[in-house]
Amino acid sequence: MSEGRILRIEKLSSFDGDGLRTVVFLKGCPLRCMWCSTPESHHVETNFGNHKDSCTHCFTCVESCPENAIRYHEDGDIFITDMSKCTDCRVCMEECLPGSRIAYARYRKLSKSWKKTLSSISTPAAGSP
Ligand code: SF4
Ligand code: SF4
Repeated sequence: MSEGRILRIEKLSSFDGDGLRTVVFLKGCPLRCMWCSTPESHHVETNFGNHKDSCTHCFTCVESCPENAIRYHEDGDIFITDMSKCTDCRVCMEECLPGSRIAYARYRKLSKSWKKTLSSISTPAAGSP
């Protein structure tokens, strides 16, 4: 494996297992556990979101989207991206000055050191928590 669609990488993770580990969250998880705390990993495609704390509601993301894919819903104060229109061009992120617009996924080509790291990682046995 030399490239993959990664949601995020957590270093020094101490949750859900023994010891300190580097956890690589991949996109496209086929499981639907009731206790899932990472639903943004379910789809292989990118999901977009806005950090509510830093978003200034300037609507630049909405206006800059060439596909008109972003809608603001007053009810719930949320920005929803129509992924059937979105081309993953990321113009909305580039234009967002506070950096509030975020993408849940990115392609990563693995460097040699990462390939080495991943090849040494043990995966949890089936049925383990
Ligand atoms: S451009 Fe950024 S700050 Fe402005 S509404 Fe969109 S997410 Fe919020
Ligand atoms: S990634 Fe591109 S197409 Fe998708 S919502 Fe942002 S600006 Fe629009």
